[in-house]
Amino acid sequence: MPQPGKPQRIGAVKQITSHSNPIVKEIKGLVSQRKHRTQSGLFVAEGLKLATDALAANWDVRYLALGPEARENPVAQKAAATAKARGALILEVNTAVLSAMTRKDNPQMVVGVYEQKLVHADDLKPENTTVWVALDRVRDPGNLGTVIRTVDAVGGAGVILVGDCTDPFAVETVRATMGSLFHVPISKMPKDRFKQLAASWPGTVTGTHLKGSVDYRTVDYQQPALLLMGNEQQGLEDDMAGACNCLIRIPQVGQADSLNLAVATGIALYEIRRPHLEL
Ligand code: SAM
Repeated sequence: MPQPGKPQRIGAVKQITSHSNPIVKEIKGLVSQRKHRTQSGLFVAEGLKLATDALAANWDVRYLALGPEARENPVAQKAAATAKARGALILEVNTAVLSAMTRKDNPQMVVGVYEQKLVHADDLKPENTTVWVALDRVRDPGNLGTVIRTVDAVGGAGVILVGDCTDPFAVETVRATMGSLFHVPISKMPKDRFKQLAASWPGTVTGTHLKGSVDYRTVDYQQPALLLMGNEQQGLEDDMAGACNCLIRIPQVGQADSLNLAVATGIALYEIRRPHLEL
């Protein structure tokens, strides 16, 4: 679909058989190094499902690499035709080249390279949204990907990455989102900018804290809600906890010190969104 205001590129098909092809090296760099992703504004998502999700959600695709199996698969063929019509370079590769690109022994039959998209802090409008989840210095890509997937599942508005967080466009994060990355807006901001946002937030700003005095099931969550989750090791810093209207706790029995970050996010999100979720 033509994108208004964007020059139209003409797509093409290219066969690659050599591991030392510059495009293969570029994709390898995007898989393994955050620096390359940041500099280029590109990222890699593996698999046909993610390719169809990305295309359905109109993300810009730069390359779509198809292994031998994909060239026999009608869904992959359709994805390739759509990507090419939108200006992507379609790479026909063998399994060894796919393995080299992805640094995996058993690569998926389709590997896509897409342009990153982030919501600028100034464009984040709380009005008419449901719940934004803010993650303070999240470190684990699996946790981040799982949170993005859960935000998608509950109809949340998006995810805010506060401070020094793991890369939302790392291959492990993208994989853990199971395609939800293409449907959930992501914003990044430093701590001070987040505190400004929290101070002007029109609904409830809820922090989750192991010392929270409020049972998470007793709050009347005013939407738009803003749910703040702490770092895996250190939890929420005092000033971040101070930016919240209330600090909730999820009751625990047993010997576990705390819940996993993504599990705690899921429990809180389902409570916040409970009145709006039906089978
Ligand atoms: N040692 C850390 C601490 O003292 O907070 C543990 C952090 S925990 C693994 C990661 C985050 O998950 C916490 O900062 C909090 O946001 C959330 N969390 C985990 N268990 C929770 C609980 N029982 N109640 C509320 N939030 C919880």
